[in-house]
Amino acid sequence: MARESRVAERSEEMVSEELAARLAALLDGLPHKFTIYLFTKKGENDAFNDAARNVISAFSELSGKVRLEEHGLDHELAKKWNVQRSPTILLDPENYRIRWLGAPAGQEAQAFLQAILLIGSRQGGLSDQSLKVMEKIDSSRDVKLFVSITCPYCPQQVVNAIKVAVEKPKMVSVEIVDTMANQDLAVKYGVQGVPQTFVNGKLIASGAQPEELFVLSLQKMEQQTYFIPDIDAEVVEKDLVIVGGGPAGLTAGIYGVRSGLNACIIERGTLGGQVALTPVVENYTGFTMVGGKALVDLMVNHALRYVQIFQNEAVMDIQLGERFTVTTSRRRFMTKAVLLATGASPRRLNVPGESRLTGLGVSYCSTCDGPMFKGKSVIVVGGGDSAVTEALHLHNIGVKVTMVHRRDQFRAQEHLSKQISTLGIPVLWNMEVREIRGEDRVKEVLLHNNKSGKDMVVKVDGVFIAIGYDPQTELTKKIGVELTENGFIKHDSHHRTNVPGIYSAGDVEGGFMQIVTAVGQGAEAALSIFEELSSPYWKR
Ligand code: NAP
Repeated sequence: MARESRVAERSEEMVSEELAARLAALLDGLPHKFTIYLFTKKGENDAFNDAARNVISAFSELSGKVRLEEHGLDHELAKKWNVQRSPTILLDPENYRIRWLGAPAGQEAQAFLQAILLIGSRQGGLSDQSLKVMEKIDSSRDVKLFVSITCPYCPQQVVNAIKVAVEKPKMVSVEIVDTMANQDLAVKYGVQGVPQTFVNGKLIASGAQPEELFVLSLQKMEQQTYFIPDIDAEVVEKDLVIVGGGPAGLTAGIYGVRSGLNACIIERGTLGGQVALTPVVENYTGFTMVGGKALVDLMVNHALRYVQIFQNEAVMDIQLGERFTVTTSRRRFMTKAVLLATGASPRRLNVPGESRLTGLGVSYCSTCDGPMFKGKSVIVVGGGDSAVTEALHLHNIGVKVTMVHRRDQFRAQEHLSKQISTLGIPVLWNMEVREIRGEDRVKEVLLHNNKSGKDMVVKVDGVFIAIGYDPQTELTKKIGVELTENGFIKHDSHHRTNVPGIYSAGDVEGGFMQIVTAVGQGAEAALSIFEELSSPYWKR
């Protein structure tokens, strides 16, 4: 037994000696020497002071490239660099603004080593995509990142933060705050879990992020849920160009690429289309209840595993020819087939006051604007699934809602309509909105009862309009794609339009206009396109 334990001890020693030698070689290979300053005050966080000293000493003893200098909080350097907490670690403060409040021990030790390597090489090591996003940041970012030494996710976020601070030392400062050593700061910022990242005092990320998402959140100053690489090419060759990044387009992208097509998606605005604006979805198979934006995030992240997405690019023109030329605001695509999955946009009431007061109390999106009307009175116009869903959402977030519908019964699914009466949401039946009034904000609406012929004025703070959608077909007209009498794209059961090589899917085709049907149509269209393009008889 004694012999076995001696053997075990000896092999542990050999491993740690080998590790130390490798670490020393790594540090010795750094091109720059630098100093790590540790500031402590006896009697304040002594255990953390000792731990911080031990960690930094361990590195500085391994290599001359890292020097440790320790001072008290009353030292002039503490004043110079505005250090007030014990322990505080400043890494190469002559060149960078990176400080650690607490001890970089436990899980944080590996992030601390990464920080040393980045600083010693004076390189942030960001990916090309992250660097492109960093170029768009033009004002200072002060990052405060809350971590704990027992959190296995924290080091990833710490390394992200250090990378940007090394890359842009003038623009980015980073403060890593160990929540155990600085509980008062955690309370002050309302930190409930780690890692949490604040920038200029605003929470921009909960949890660890991939580097590109962190950089994008840093740029946009709010948490980002997906990252789409920027592509420089001016001419892009494809088999299939999908126009529209809603559920139909995203699904077509997945199915197209999985079939072997070289496909891409072009989206001029928000990915996910109307679903991204839907408060809650209860009828997408597999999800009893899911937020519209959360569902979109799942779809986009799934699609990105397969298909290139060109976001914020509007398709301006499609030229017919042996191959189609699709021109966007940024480049040209040469493609064998085009799938139009352009969806539909909210229908307007077209009454006086509507366009003038849009954004000033008139809204088409309860998810976006609802919270601003908490405790206030609004009407929701319409009697379909959208109107009922929006009314329920507004009611649930504390808005005083009245529904206004032009008939005496809803068109919406019974399951949804029932909830309106169960929750006691008032409905004004047989009422048409004739005018929306207010100087600089919505104040009242003029309603007309189409049964009694009487008018009434109702005081309101907001008007949410949910009276259906109009298909987005501007492109189709240019290329001669036929529409139905209701303005939707005419198509056959393979989603072919009358123009060979041009297909359609999703709400732009009309029909049931459900997320689940759009997804199905996207899959069907992509498979049809694959079959046709791979046929020996295919030609355009
Ligand atoms: P919709 O089903 O076409 O209903 C539009 C509603 O607005 C109808 O009640 C209609 O009245 C009314 N309306 C239309 N034009 C009007 C006008 N000018 N003035 C006053 N009222 C007017 O549209 P939607 O509710 O937006 O739904 C669109 C599609 O998406 C549907 O297929 C729907 O099932 C689907 N959707 C599903 C869900 C879900 O499943 N959770 C949620 C949202 C949407 P009339 O009834 O008198 O025609």
